[in-house]
Amino acid sequence: MSEQKKLKIGWFSFTCCEDSTIMFTEMLNDHFFAWKKILDFRHCNVLKSKNEMSDIDVAFVEGAICTDKDKAKLEKIREVSKYIVAIGACAVTGYPTAHRNNFNKEMKEEIAFYLKQFHQADTVYALHELIKVDDKVPGCPMIESMFVKTMDKYLHEFGVIPEDDSIANHKDARH
Ligand code: SF4
Repeated sequence: MSEQKKLKIGWFSFTCCEDSTIMFTEMLNDHFFAWKKILDFRHCNVLKSKNEMSDIDVAFVEGAICTDKDKAKLEKIREVSKYIVAIGACAVTGYPTAHRNNFNKEMKEEIAFYLKQFHQADTVYALHELIKVDDKVPGCPMIESMFVKTMDKYLHEFGVIPEDDSIANHKDARH
């Protein structure tokens, strides 16, 4: 019998409240063992402490980019991933964090101390403003049905599950 193919995924969070990560882990309550058979979690901080920053098929990235360090990390993710999916409004638009980009001179002066103190860049970026983004799952937090649809797209493209199947059908045995 041939070995089950897996989609190698990464899950990354930058500046945000991580609600899409919570939604993802909530989904794992019902699907973890079934999804483990078709997904290789190469990088996923909420699931494990030893993570790989290489050879990722699809990286799911939530959060806005607010520091030079995060910008460099995002570029690295782009380098090691075949596809990048922006997850949630923060990653797709930069907002709400990017509101500070629009502050007037007086307000910018008021927050200057905090930006320096916490090593924040002057500008907040959505992912697509810094790197090529292949797909977007909007929503605050992400729209679950769109996430499933996007995951299915790549599972089909990489030949992990057949075209008429969906990751939503892969549930743990107790369900
Ligand atoms: S998109 Fe909304 S829910 Fe998701 S991290 Fe940003 S603020 Fe939180």
